[in-house]
Amino acid sequence: MVSYQVLARKYRPGRLQDVVGQPQTVQALINAFDRGQLHHAYMFSGTRGVGKTTLARIIAKCLNCKNGVTSMPCGVCDNCVSIGDGSYVDLIEVDGASRNKVEETRELLDDIEYLPSMGTFKVYIIDEVHALSDSSFQTLLKSLEEPPEHVKFVLATTNPDKVPVTVRSRCLQFHLRNMSMETIDAHLRTVLAAENIAYDEPSVRLLARAGQGSMRDALSITDQALALCGNELTETTVLEMLGSAPQNDVAVLLEKLVTRQRQPVLEVMADLANRGVDFAELLAGLESGVHALAMAKATSTSPGEALAPLLDQVDTGWLQQAYQALIMGGRDLQYAPEPRVGFEMTMLRLLDFVPIVMDSAADQATQQTEISVATDVLNERNEVPPPSAEPAGFSQPNSSTTGDVSPKQSSAPALRSSSQPSQRADERAQRFNAKRVERLQQQDLAREQEHEQRLNEFTTRDEEPYIKIFEKKFNATFRTEHVADDDAKA
Ligand SMILES: [Zn+2]
Repeated sequence: MVSYQVLARKYRPGRLQDVVGQPQTVQALINAFDRGQLHHAYMFSGTRGVGKTTLARIIAKCLNCKNGVTSMPCGVCDNCVSIGDGSYVDLIEVDGASRNKVEETRELLDDIEYLPSMGTFKVYIIDEVHALSDSSFQTLLKSLEEPPEHVKFVLATTNPDKVPVTVRSRCLQFHLRNMSMETIDAHLRTVLAAENIAYDEPSVRLLARAGQGSMRDALSITDQALALCGNELTETTVLEMLGSAPQNDVAVLLEKLVTRQRQPVLEVMADLANRGVDFAELLAGLESGVHALAMAKATSTSPGEALAPLLDQVDTGWLQQAYQALIMGGRDLQYAPEPRVGFEMTMLRLLDFVPIVMDSAADQATQQTEISVATDVLNERNEVPPPSAEPAGFSQPNSSTTGDVSPKQSSAPALRSSSQPSQRADERAQRFNAKRVERLQQQDLAREQEHEQRLNEFTTRDEEPYIKIFEKKFNATFRTEHVADDDAKA
């Protein structure tokens, strides 16, 4: 039985010219090797699956090909072949994330002084270099400052900001861009053609989009699709497969959260837990979804097919609050008894603690109070407006009128027709204000009680920071309203 080699590895480019999606970096490297300008350390940054370690290995070939230093390694000499299959002894590749301790870095650099045994250069590739400990960086820095002639470093990182500037400044730095959907799409077609696999147009587009800027991710998803589809990719099968992928969970959850459907959110969460999804990844997905919606709001663009239906249902205030809650939820996931608990608390927080909806409910309640106070005052004066119409001056904007005449027009003449002495008008105004303040105070009390009740429901040690934030917002809302009241009285 022939073992299956994953597409990302099978079609990993072996020459600079074959690297797709990074034209500037590739051209700069080709020029440098053609002119014989060798740097002793290179650093590639960029998100996962955009070609960092691929370029690092190609550089090892460019340096060690038996034809001499070249931008076009032959790919067939012993050195090129053994670098390609990972058996080249002078290529030392380590993962900074799993070997980040200073002893391990010392051990790695221990025999740096010894000459290479096969080729011209010893090449040290340190992947995820940002994960090294501080003292590991110090050790590495010493080697970077005075590297032996026969040593080259290639560092790769998804997080260049975490690499000390002293290390960065000693490297020739390249930032690799996320792959465009078109680049991934075109490359997938090349790969599928080489594999003799039939496909329909939409299936490739779906796979390219699912890669989200990462060629490796797109190829891995294609591997999965091929495992399901066999030798023919169809839109239906790919859709079915992606249906269970996180992107879909994100859209479903966001929709329920935006529309505050408590029960469905709980059901989706139970389903996710049963499927054993990665909650950290899901939170990150939700953050991206919220970001996409916020950007779409700000720039009047589309947030993508899955999220587009939500655009009109959500406002920017909610998005800001939700983003904050998700970021904090992601950060605190490590302190939760288990990831599921942390995730569920974050979802409940989004349902209960995001104040924007409560504010609009409060606004409505205040408006309702003003309408009823005004009605009372009008009743006292025996000038009740027609039952179908709202009192003058307190009609809600955009509210539909029930009669042929608008409420303002129907009640305004009644107000004008009464000619009371000004003293009685003042008394009425005072009564009006007193009643209004009294009712607002009642509302405040009710809201405070509700607030306290919610706090009691959700208070845990973990929640304290959010409670503080919530209280601040809560008080700010009250203060604004009272200031508005004072302004009205003045
Ligand atoms: Zn060669």
